[in-house]
Amino acid sequence: MKYLFTLLLLLGISIGAIAQDADHVELVKAEKRAAAFKIQARGNTQARGFDVGHQRLDLQVDPAVNLVTGTVTTTFRVTQDSLTQVVLDLEDALTVDSITYQGNAVSFTHQGGKITINLPASLPLDAVAQVAIQYHGTPPGSGFGSFVQSDHNGAPIIWTLSEPYGADDWWPCKQDLVDKIDSLDVLVTVPSGNLVAGNGLLVEQTEQNGMATFHWKHRYPIPTYLVAFAVTNYVPYTDTVASDSGDIVMLNYVYPESLNSAQTGTANLVSVMQLYNDLFGVYPYWKEKYGHAQFGWGGGMEHTTMTFAVSFSHGLLSHELAHQWFGDAVTCGSWEDIWLNEGFATYLEGLTYEHGLGSADFSDWLVNKINTVISQPGGSVKVDDTTSVGRIFSWRLSYSKGAMVLHMLRWVLGDDAFFQGIRDYLNDPQLRFGFATTADLKAHLEAASGKDLTDFFDSWYSGEGYPIYSIIWEQTPDNVLHVNILQAQSVPASYFKMPVPLRAIGPGFSQDLVFQNDADDQYFTAQLPGPVTELQFDPDHWLVAEATITQGPVAVDPVPEQARLTVTPNPAWDRVRFSGEAGGLVIITDIAGRQLARLRKPRSTAVWWEPAGRPEGLYIWRLVQNGRVLDAGKLVIN
Ligand SMILES: [Zn+2]
Repeated sequence: MKYLFTLLLLLGISIGAIAQDADHVELVKAEKRAAAFKIQARGNTQARGFDVGHQRLDLQVDPAVNLVTGTVTTTFRVTQDSLTQVVLDLEDALTVDSITYQGNAVSFTHQGGKITINLPASLPLDAVAQVAIQYHGTPPGSGFGSFVQSDHNGAPIIWTLSEPYGADDWWPCKQDLVDKIDSLDVLVTVPSGNLVAGNGLLVEQTEQNGMATFHWKHRYPIPTYLVAFAVTNYVPYTDTVASDSGDIVMLNYVYPESLNSAQTGTANLVSVMQLYNDLFGVYPYWKEKYGHAQFGWGGGMEHTTMTFAVSFSHGLLSHELAHQWFGDAVTCGSWEDIWLNEGFATYLEGLTYEHGLGSADFSDWLVNKINTVISQPGGSVKVDDTTSVGRIFSWRLSYSKGAMVLHMLRWVLGDDAFFQGIRDYLNDPQLRFGFATTADLKAHLEAASGKDLTDFFDSWYSGEGYPIYSIIWEQTPDNVLHVNILQAQSVPASYFKMPVPLRAIGPGFSQDLVFQNDADDQYFTAQLPGPVTELQFDPDHWLVAEATITQGPVAVDPVPEQARLTVTPNPAWDRVRFSGEAGGLVIITDIAGRQLARLRKPRSTAVWWEPAGRPEGLYIWRLVQNGRVLDAGKLVIN
């Protein structure tokens, strides 16, 4: 799923991603309000004692009327010792007309968004049975607009978009992230002249009495939120993607007025699918199809085998296609782990730029993502409030930081282990066409690399914030580079243990250096071929971090015991005391390297500094004696 800045996009105006981000935030706020009430009302949907096997939706809709009428038949297998009731989800705004069990009418209740069906006799473990629910009504519409009746260029349209909690707005289902529907048939009857888009293969299309019925058949496990249809006066066309598994059909249903732009956009997606096939294995649903159906929501939604998209830009289509691997084939097992869907889809869009597809520059794209993440100090990739749709779909955290966490994993592990671990994750039979958690991804990356990623995931997945580096360097006449790395965190957080990339540039040379920064106030050295004129931090944009680089002098390493200063209190707010045996000059700078104070400190005597009026944040102090830095450290003012 991805939001766009719809109006500007439709007008064809190119906009910066920051504007998209700002717009996204506003949209998410509105959607969050719409969904809040409904989510609060949800109980535990997991322990119901049965597993959904097959579902068949027989629906009648007219795209000009906000109404659904139909029968949903659910075949299930009992997963507990005995089952006397079957509970399914359906919003109370819809009316259940009748329910049959194995073809015979049964009693039921429908309240609080739940249909409770009383079975005539209790069913034993592993029994397989079937219930059919006849219902009708006007779907209430929640979340991102789960069932929307609208129009385009004067033609009526209905589309669905159920993620995360909207499926039960329009059909009786088991709405969770535990149990995928093993196989699915969706039959939709509409007035002739319309086409219906759906999941899987269109196996039959019949006409009778001015009505047309479309039968879509999907034979892969699918989570409830990815079941979808859309109906309007579509124009169909296909593209073809050559792959190792044979030609893959890309079937597109677009508005007549959008045909030209759609054809350009989907033709360009062919090479994107080939890139993903190469990197992550052939498109998971190649036996059925891939496709697009145009709709009016301001972005795209990765309905399995049939993405719904408002328009056909490279970024949007690349993102939604990526979801077919990440989100659809392997689905987050909790909304807490939505980054397994959205972080990957966002990162794969970035990979298209790295491989020369689309018009964006990969470096610029990375800088934009980093700036989005560090625009606020806190926030974790792990969703800390899954009742909030806005928090689940946080553009800054689930999408941008999620994508950068993957990029940083690639930095830490190297390309070979990273991509191997991701392919192993996708191909794990426990996960493929099932659900995954962050722990599953971590285990595969650890197995592929042989590295323990516990600290990494503690910092970057469940932890908040990012590192702020203060890097001081000096080169001695033997061309040895001395580097002192100090690290603060944007919010109170444990230490980010990361390899820090630097680039040393001098006359006739440019040398990349990587220092493994595992503790505060660390010293590193590197022999260089000549005098350094510039030291760059992270020139290839691997890290979510801020940094300042200042030229020496670098403190003596290790700091002699008698030269150590004690700084109290730290954090401080009105007065700070520097005490210790050594004498010299205490120089205090801000994070940008601007000198704020020079305090003469006699031997064995303390000196005081009053930071009153200085902004809260990180400062650096150094004790300098005869031109050498004896000790240095951080000072936090708050
Ligand atoms: Zn998405």
